[in-house]
Amino acid sequence: MKAAVISQAQPGKVEFRHQTVRALASGEALVNVECCGVCHTDLHVVQGDFGPVPGRIPGHEGIGIVSAIADDVTSLKVGDRVSIAWFYEGCGVCEYCVSGRETFCRNVKNAGYSVDGAMAEQCIVKADYAVKVPEGLDPLVASSITCAGVTTYKAAQVSGVRPGQWLAIWGAGGLGNMAIQFARNVFNARVIAIDIQDDKLALARESGAEITLNPGKEDVPARIHELTGGGAHSAIVVAVARSAFNQAVNSVRAGGKVVCVAVPAGELSLNIVKTVLDGIQIVGSLVGTRQDLAEAFLHALAGRVHPIVQPRKLEELNAIFKEMDDGTIQGRMVIDLRTVQRTEE
Ligand SMILES: [Zn+2]
Ligand SMILES: [Zn+2]
Repeated sequence: MKAAVISQAQPGKVEFRHQTVRALASGEALVNVECCGVCHTDLHVVQGDFGPVPGRIPGHEGIGIVSAIADDVTSLKVGDRVSIAWFYEGCGVCEYCVSGRETFCRNVKNAGYSVDGAMAEQCIVKADYAVKVPEGLDPLVASSITCAGVTTYKAAQVSGVRPGQWLAIWGAGGLGNMAIQFARNVFNARVIAIDIQDDKLALARESGAEITLNPGKEDVPARIHELTGGGAHSAIVVAVARSAFNQAVNSVRAGGKVVCVAVPAGELSLNIVKTVLDGIQIVGSLVGTRQDLAEAFLHALAGRVHPIVQPRKLEELNAIFKEMDDGTIQGRMVIDLRTVQRTEE
């Protein structure tokens, strides 16, 4: 099968190789990959930001069809459409795995990083961890739900926002746009979108944001307090800028919650007096569980969220990483392996 493999010779790049898939072990299934979205996390992995992993196949936004199962597998059958997500496998027995917080398992495996991922024609999954994609959901859409979708759906859950409450979202790019749609269409929140790029704010308004603010042009916390009569009830930060985190803390009302999703390097500075006197909560949110992903798929199937996706070829992967680094990408680039298979047949 054809695969993109992290290069040893050329740091920060992938090579394209033909390689043989190993035999299935107990509990595993083989998936013929249909498509796989390209995420900023893949760029981090390929560049060795989490430690070098040459020879690894990246990709954790994979969707494909089960083509074989190990003898003992009962949770999947040949022909099922499944996802290959960043949360590839947990230990299944630790305090996190048994309490609905499996993504925090200390022995987690991540697709495309600690095990081979979905930037290949075939990928092996742990059957019990591969979430089924509901019938009728476009694989390209399902691909984006597998990472950006479930991450923002989870973040909105963690925010605890109630119908009619104000939720402020920092970052209106790919992830932020999904967050806006989930907040508005699933949680019935009133959404404020914040971004330094006006074209992203225009798209945010189309996607359901009631108010849009540009921190390059106005004092965002002051405006939010004024427009909402005391501050947002909660905030989600997907923008990769430290200033966004500080603005979020200063924009929520008493009892407000700030959900941190983006991971810029550095510290988050907190006003201790405000944190205590206003009872502010700051919490991190990491992707989502299998159950979160199954629910996010159903919301997409029901048309409540529409990821913006663009199909690309596997061979374009290095070019896509370059575009990502340059910040020129609109929406999600999704490697469509169905074209690879078609050209080879
Ligand atoms: Zn991702
Ligand atoms: Zn565990």
